[in-house]
Amino acid sequence: MFAKITQLHYLCKKDICENTMGQEYPSALFERAVSEFSKLPGIGRKTATRLVLHILRQQQSEVENFADAMTRLKKEVKYCKHCHGISDTEVCPICANPARDHSLICVVENIRDILAVENTMQFKGVYHVLGGVISPMDGISPGDLQIESLVGRVATGDVKEVILALSPTMEGDTTNFYIFRKLSGYDVKLSVIARGISVGDELEYTDEVTLGRSIINRTPFTGKTF
Ligand code: ZN
Repeated sequence: MFAKITQLHYLCKKDICENTMGQEYPSALFERAVSEFSKLPGIGRKTATRLVLHILRQQQSEVENFADAMTRLKKEVKYCKHCHGISDTEVCPICANPARDHSLICVVENIRDILAVENTMQFKGVYHVLGGVISPMDGISPGDLQIESLVGRVATGDVKEVILALSPTMEGDTTNFYIFRKLSGYDVKLSVIARGISVGDELEYTDEVTLGRSIINRTPFTGKTF
């Protein structure tokens, strides 16, 4: 089908569609759909075309369901008033769960990080989504992030430990340090996730910063690999 459209386009450009300047395809509707998909991260024009062709092959009801899911997502999704994670309700299911340890907060950059930590099934506390990290280069200052609300949660006195689980980058480190200073007046334990070599990595190919940190943050060997 793609080949057919390309061919049509070739013909149109030459003979018929002289008034469709700058248009890649013989259909403005098709072109618009491709251009909308191309705006998504990691989607180039080629993939966008493939996706639009896929949608064209779908049943009308399926396409409407897809469009409705996107529209309702944007219109109706909420951000949890405690952790700022996405939710259908004012308080997300994690914050609303009495079985979670509410005295333990894991600070993450974005919602995807919550999913990543949840998938490990190793964390039973709650989260706090900052919405990014401090990055003067990108114009992101502490005021753009959910740092004050984190301080507010700690100020209640109900939090025993805050785990900083930000990216091991300069921006992540800057943010860690900023939060460390902000929370220094409170009686709360502050920890940072261990940084080390990945499982399956060959030692000689690990960069020296990571390897150095792994040695500093070594843990007692208990005979278990995990
Ligand atoms: Zn929440």
